[in-house]
Amino acid sequence: MTGDELALQQVNCHRGATAEMPCMFCLNVKSKRSIDVLHDRAGYFVLVTCVDCDKFKFHSDVTIRKIAFELRDRSSVETKKGMETLQKQLGFSYIPNSTLLCPVLNYKPATLTVFDWMHCFLVDGVFNITVGQTMAVASTLGVSYNSMGSFVATWSWPRRLTQKGAIGKDLFKPSRIATWRKEEKFKCSASEALSLYPVMAAFLQMESTRLGLAENPAFTVFYLCCDVLDHLLCIPRGTCTPEGLAEAIVSFLRLYKLVFGEKHWTPKFHSILHLPRMLAEHKVIIPCFVTERKHKEGKRIAGYLRNTSVDFERSLLEDITSNHLHALHDFVAKPRICSGITRCSETLLAQLQASFPDAISLQVGRRAKFNQFNETEVGDIVLAQIGDHVVAAEIFGAIVADGAVFFLVSKLRRISSERRLSKWQRFGQELCLLEGVSILGPCVHRNDGDVVVVIRCV
Ligand SMILES: [Zn+2]
Repeated sequence: MTGDELALQQVNCHRGATAEMPCMFCLNVKSKRSIDVLHDRAGYFVLVTCVDCDKFKFHSDVTIRKIAFELRDRSSVETKKGMETLQKQLGFSYIPNSTLLCPVLNYKPATLTVFDWMHCFLVDGVFNITVGQTMAVASTLGVSYNSMGSFVATWSWPRRLTQKGAIGKDLFKPSRIATWRKEEKFKCSASEALSLYPVMAAFLQMESTRLGLAENPAFTVFYLCCDVLDHLLCIPRGTCTPEGLAEAIVSFLRLYKLVFGEKHWTPKFHSILHLPRMLAEHKVIIPCFVTERKHKEGKRIAGYLRNTSVDFERSLLEDITSNHLHALHDFVAKPRICSGITRCSETLLAQLQASFPDAISLQVGRRAKFNQFNETEVGDIVLAQIGDHVVAAEIFGAIVADGAVFFLVSKLRRISSERRLSKWQRFGQELCLLEGVSILGPCVHRNDGDVVVVIRCV
């Protein structure tokens, strides 16, 4: 079970991240304001800003449910004030008939609840604060949000993201920048943050080279934050291990604390320390991107319903269901052509027949899904793994021959390669076929004449 902070708090009767005991999974973690740690000579309690995971004492299903039953029993004998103090100390609230108290359900709060990394990082979260703090330091070096905005504007994102409007290119407006500076926090939607972070990292790398800053600690904190996001994005592909994730998170948080201190540290910084353990336990942790999108769809449809006096919920549910069925009509998880073309030139047809002489079925299109996660289309620049080499190529068409996806591409020649950036040169117009399975993914890119600068994305 996952969700935003409020949802998890309500289901588990936890008092929330702003309470005295800010974490529902930790027995001994106290809020930043707590003075108990000062009196605690045994060293049992730790503050929410602690990054030493060995010091945390974890709740189990039994301890959380025990608290719920204890609160229920005490509620009949304690005064209102007494109850309030008790709930504050324990970090949980007494809610009659809550899921925790259900004798039939045998609900397991600690085992079943998983923090949503999207909300922790990208919704007023760790990423937004880290960007704000990094840019506050950067501004003292003459690196501003304005120059970042100008840099961001020169890049092109894969068409699929551009169509969804989730790239955040237009975010850098003067009024917004003023707010970000004032609050020392970068504000954007979760999808925009995902699209922007590799470009922001490339920008800071470019600026530090320009300014001759070999290792700026504030910039390094941001790069480490990007590394954590890289790890999290690899989870669905099964290439992120709990150990690797833990190492990335701890290195990031340690340096963050050292460089920026604890002033802007929120409980979400502590929450992300639980993610590796959750990943180890459940093998996968699912972010709420899809549920948030669906939530938006419900809100969009509800906006059109003016007459709410009769069967409002039913009308809404009917519309949502029919919309969803319509979306499913076009849904196939396996590789396929997503956007076909109705006409194909004689030359191309002859070439295809020559390339696939034994094919029973041939489909040609502008856009195709090349694996279960991703698709690409004409105009995109992709990185592909061919043997031991990574190559970049520009997409000119998609072909499905007897179920196998190929792309008609123009390969690029590598000029240079840095950590996230690589430069490639266009040469000739010759097109060749690239197998869909070899494609690593479409990239963010920028054209500098014949040179294509590519940013590696997960
Ligand atoms: Zn915790």
